[in-house]
Amino acid sequence: MESEIPNQLDKPYAKAWKEYRTHLNKIAYPVVSYFPAFFVFALASYFLVGDFFPGMMVAVAIWGSYAVYWGIRVIYWPCPRCGKRFRRIGVLTYAACAHCDLPKWAESPDD
Ligand SMILES: [Zn+2]
Repeated sequence: MESEIPNQLDKPYAKAWKEYRTHLNKIAYPVVSYFPAFFVFALASYFLVGDFFPGMMVAVAIWGSYAVYWGIRVIYWPCPRCGKRFRRIGVLTYAACAHCDLPKWAESPDD
């Protein structure tokens, strides 16, 4: 059985990028599930209190706060090399760290 230690030494940033991908996925979950949940909450609210609005607002609050939380985590995600914020604020596409120019998805300092 091969040890994973040499692999981690070859790719010191791989774990950090895996965590970053997990953060990106956590933004996608509420986007995908929002509309079904919105209707379920609205219908449940209608049957419970006779109005769609309270359930709709509960769904917006839950799904919205979850997406905002993980969005902030992604925006302020630290660069694996320099530790400063990887993304520039207000820039949607980015290929490298805003501070040390580490390429996005680079798994070692040599990439
Ligand atoms: Zn950096």
